[in-house]
Order: sequence, then structure tokens, then C-alpha cells
Amino acid sequence: MPRDIYPVPADFAVNTRVNREQYQALYKQSLDDPDGFWAGVAERLEWMKTPTKIKNTSFDLADFRIRWYEDGELNVSVNCLDRHLESRGDKTALIFEPDSPDTPAERISYRELHRRVCKLANALRALGIGKGDRVTIYLPMIPEAAIAMLACARIGAVHMVVFGGFAANSIADRVSDSGSKLIITADEGLRGGRKVKLKVNVDAALKLPGTNTVETVLVVRHTGAAVDMQMPRDRWYDAVVDGQPEACEPERMNAEDPLFILYTSGSTGKPKGVLHTTGGYLVYVSYTHETIFDLREDDVYWCTADVGWVTGHSYIVYGPLANGATSLIFEGVPNYPDMSRFWQVVDKHEVTTFYTAPTAIRALMREGEGPVKATSRKSLRLLGSVGEPINPEAWRWYHDVVGEGRCPIVDTWWQTENGGILISPLPGATDLKPGCATNPFFGVKPAIVDTNGNFIEGEGSGNLVITDSWPSQSRSIYGDHQRFIDTYFKTYPGTYFTGDGCRRDADGDYWITGRVDDVINVSGHRIGTAEVESALVSHDKVAEAAVVGFPHDLKGQGIYVYVTLIAGEVASDELRVELIRHVRAEIGPIASIDHLQWAPGLPKTRSGKIMRRILRKIAENAPDQLGDTSTLADPSVVDSLVKERYIPE
Ligand code: ATP
Ligand code: MG
Repeated sequence: MPRDIYPVPADFAVNTRVNREQYQALYKQSLDDPDGFWAGVAERLEWMKTPTKIKNTSFDLADFRIRWYEDGELNVSVNCLDRHLESRGDKTALIFEPDSPDTPAERISYRELHRRVCKLANALRALGIGKGDRVTIYLPMIPEAAIAMLACARIGAVHMVVFGGFAANSIADRVSDSGSKLIITADEGLRGGRKVKLKVNVDAALKLPGTNTVETVLVVRHTGAAVDMQMPRDRWYDAVVDGQPEACEPERMNAEDPLFILYTSGSTGKPKGVLHTTGGYLVYVSYTHETIFDLREDDVYWCTADVGWVTGHSYIVYGPLANGATSLIFEGVPNYPDMSRFWQVVDKHEVTTFYTAPTAIRALMREGEGPVKATSRKSLRLLGSVGEPINPEAWRWYHDVVGEGRCPIVDTWWQTENGGILISPLPGATDLKPGCATNPFFGVKPAIVDTNGNFIEGEGSGNLVITDSWPSQSRSIYGDHQRFIDTYFKTYPGTYFTGDGCRRDADGDYWITGRVDDVINVSGHRIGTAEVESALVSHDKVAEAAVVGFPHDLKGQGIYVYVTLIAGEVASDELRVELIRHVRAEIGPIASIDHLQWAPGLPKTRSGKIMRRILRKIAENAPDQLGDTSTLADPSVVDSLVKERYIPE
């Protein structure tokens, strides 16, 4: 564990939402009196019926229930839109930055967004969509993606967003699992100057079995490409929406009514249709967004995730809009037209708060400081990270180079199933340690258990569990409640099992050490993948690394690593020896690498996470057992790794 500490900057310590003393007092209160605490927090929303029952939860299998605000009624779109019209009607709700910097950006005020959402909501009703119906959203990162989500929320339809990078099979699986009646898509998407044939993919998906629940496909004209329209199923979005009235009566929703279904990234296996509900979800995402990102009225907030992932749901759309913030939607990619694009967008829109993933940071770091230094970034005041453990080396680069040492980094740990951030620093309250997610958010009770389920107190490492419910917790896996119970609540009875490994240090801070399935057991010593990967990434010449275990006659498991070098560096046997030595020096002799394979690229999910289960099969010399690869971003990466794999004599 690195020892460097980055104290709360002076300006954050005084002028902040939550300072250190407040954090401690509020955290204690949130555990001592959850009902009182969360009743107070819920007042931030506008309820059609104020809840009187606050928390009604139990992880005990004999009496299992997760209910928050169960007699409350509200509408999410009213909270994200109508509520702001009086005080913030002309404030920019969404900034849309298109794929190409030459295409003009768009600024959509709260008033305009409200109008567009209401019109689409009316159109959906006219097409026979009502409360409880499922709607698939398969769109590029354009304003219509947020508009579609909010329009569903307005009429009580349950949205299911499919990331625009998925192809026909993945769309069909999700459409059929969710039983969607309608799909909202576009003619094409644009990513890094390339066209993504969204409508073609939908057409192909709807030829696959299980998709005949779909009655209507609404098609947004985005690039203007000619597409096949199959009447009467396919309808142009503008043709259906333009004539609709600008007012739309919002549906009264119970706090526990479903808001959306979202499939997980699929890093560990078949994606799960995670179900989220209305009241607790919105309370928690709006509160965490305001607190963790230390929201100020004039912030320009940019989360680079795709709305196809939970981060996009909670921290591009629902959290920020519930808070009346300005949220930036970016259609493009970090390296188009060049490696400075993120920072050019920051300068162009004077972004204050920037939230991205370690995979993007490592990719940018690989290209050196030049593309960053070519921009100003002086508007930035706060940085965030999510999706994977951030290697300390990448953290320092993000902090020192991107943020010029001025901006705290919130390393936010959470999962699709969590709805919102569970463990993270608060910028005005927490001293930062590179690679450390630090402290639980209010109301969150993390604990560490060993493999026998014994609680580990104080310093130590093991499996991360959460011992009590929080408001935005997933309520089920859609259509398979038993799988929900089995996956999360059976392993360590009475707790929610995260599947992640974790270490608590002497200060009580939490470090995520990687997925439990990925832990390597070398001669009885448990080694987290994150630790070895971070040691590799701390070497000057390494851009990215993935570490897995493989069966080893003497040690039980050996360490097999895949290494991607910094742009311009050349692989050699000397470098291999040097890296092996470097890791031993950093971690100790227990971390002796058995095989090091050069990797031009690593297999990743479409959200950019390293898929170690596939690398494990390659290391085990079992390339015919790779399992479900449908969520892989670039399958060709796997072929080349398989070809170059180490084959024991
Ligand atoms: P699946 O559940 O289908 O295997 P997934 O776990 O990748 O997919 P997500 O819900 O998108 O799907 O990701 C949550 C996981 O991402 C966490 O369990 C953790 O492993 C990792 N993660 C997210 N944020 C952080 C973070 N700040 N630090 C460390 N790990 C993180
Ligand atoms: Mg997961």
C-alpha cells in the first residue's frame, strides 16, 4: 500500500458541503437512527405523498425484505425537471458535445428539457405504453438518451438501456429477458468518426427468437443515414413526437415501483438484469451526487460514462438532474480527433467536475503528458474515478498532471446492484491515499469477512460485504428473484456480498483489492490482482497490466501477467527480467511472476474493465473454455493473446 497522503486542500476544508467533523457526526447519526436520518434526506425530493415509513429491510433469509419509503409517492421526472422550472428554468440542464468538435455543441435548458421529455412521454402513451411496460433504449450518447429515460419515468414505464456498442445478439438477449414492448433507437451513432449502425443492429436483433414482444421501434434521425423502415412497426421519432402537446401529466409512482432494469457489465459471467426502484434510488443518487461531488450551483459537471452503464444512469442523468445541476453528455471518445479531446472539452465548456474510469486514465497516461499540457484545464476543481481499482501510479498522474495537484480525486467504489456510490472520499472531509476508496458513505455499513464468514475487525483483508441496506440498493434480478438472493445474500448469511476483495488499513480506510474470484493463492498466500497490477503499472515503461493465477505444481497457483507497454516502448527479454524484479522489489518475494506475456491489448468489457476470467483461461492453456464473450469490446485482442500464450512442455 502506498504511504503518500494528500490532505484536504484548504479551500475545500472550509467551503464545502461536508467537512471532517460533519462527516463523522452524520455518519454516526445515519447508523444510530437510520429512520430519522433518511427521513430528513428524503425531504430533498418533491413527494406527491410524503413517506411515513422509511426503512423496512432485512437481509435475514427467513424474513428477507428491502423496502424504503414504502408508502411514499413521487415521480422521478417531476423531481428532475418540473421542480426546477421556477428557479432554474433557464439554467442549462444538459450540454451536448458531439463526436466531432466541428459539430456545434448544444445547450438544453431545464425548460427545454422538460418540454422535450413531456412530448416524448405523450408520444409513448399514444403508442400504448403505460405504467410497468418495459422500454428498451438503444441510443448513442445524445440528448435523446436522457430524454427517453426521463419520458419513461414520467409515465411509469420501466426503461432498460442497452449500451450502443452492443450488437444484435446482446440486444436480443436483453430485449427478450425484459419483455420490452418498444425500442427507442437512432439511424446511426457516431464514435470517433466511425458510424455505428444502430437501426441495422435492432433489425437483426428483432429477427432473433424471444423478441416478438416488441411492437414499435422509434427511430431518432441522428446522422441522417437512410435506413430500412418496416411499417407499421418502425416510426420516425420526430414524426411521432413533434405534434405532441407540451404538457404531460406525470404518473404517481409508489416509492417501490420499478424505475429501470439494467444489465451488469458481464465481467464475471452472464449479465444480470438488475432491477432498481423509484424513491430510495432517487433520494440516494441525488444525495451522493451533491455530497461526493461537492456540488455548487454554477458547476459544470461531466461524467464520461455511457448512459448504457449504471454510472450514466445515476451520475449523468438522475443524480445531477435531480439536483438541478448542469450535466455534460459527450458522444465521442477520448482519442478523437486526438489524445487531447477530453481536455479540449473541459476547456470549451469550462468543466469544473470531471468523473471518468481508470481504463481511460491509463490509456491517456500511455501517451504521456503532452496532450494534457496542451490544454488549460483551469476550470477543473474536482476529479473522480469509477469502475475498477485505480492503480496508485495512474491516480498520481491524474492528480498531478490532469488536476495539476489542485483537484481532489474521489475514488468511488460501487456496483450496478448498489444504485449509487457506497465507498468514497468526500473532498472536504477526507485525506486521500492514491488507490484507496477510503470511507463508507452515510448509512453504508461495510464489513470484511474471511472465507469462513468470520468478521475481521480492525486492520485486515478479506471479502467485502455490506451488513445493512441502503436506499438505492437493487431490489431484485428481473424475472429471477431467487438468483438475486442466491447471488448476493447466501454466501455470507445476513449480509450483502459484493464479490470484491478489500483491505482495511490501520486508519480504517477501505482499499478494494479486486474481485474475489480473481484472488490468487500462491503457496497459501492470498494476493489481490490489483496489487500486482499496480506494482507493474508503477514501472515507467508499463501502461497497463492484468494479472491472473494458473495451476502450479508446487505453489498451488502461479502468477501469470499480461503487460501492455507505454506507447513507443519495445518489449525485450531484458525488460521482462526487469519487470519481474521490479514487482518482487515492490511487493516481496511472494509476488514472483511465473509467466509474463506481452499484450498489445487486454480483453475488456465494453465499459472498459479488464476481463480476467478470460485471461485466466488463456493462462490455464484452455483457450477453448473462454465462456461468454458477448460483452467483450474487441474479441480480436483475445485471438492474438491466445496465439502468443505460454504453453507448458
Ligand atoms: P458483472 O457483475 O456482470 O461481472 P461488473 O461487476 O463489471 O459485471 P459493474 O456493476 O459495472 O459490473 O461493476 C462493479 C464492479 O466494478 C465492482 O464490483 C468492482 O469490482 C469494480 N469497481 C467499481 N468501482 C470501483 C472502484 N472505485 N475501485 C475498485 N473497484 C471498483
Ligand atoms: Mg459485478
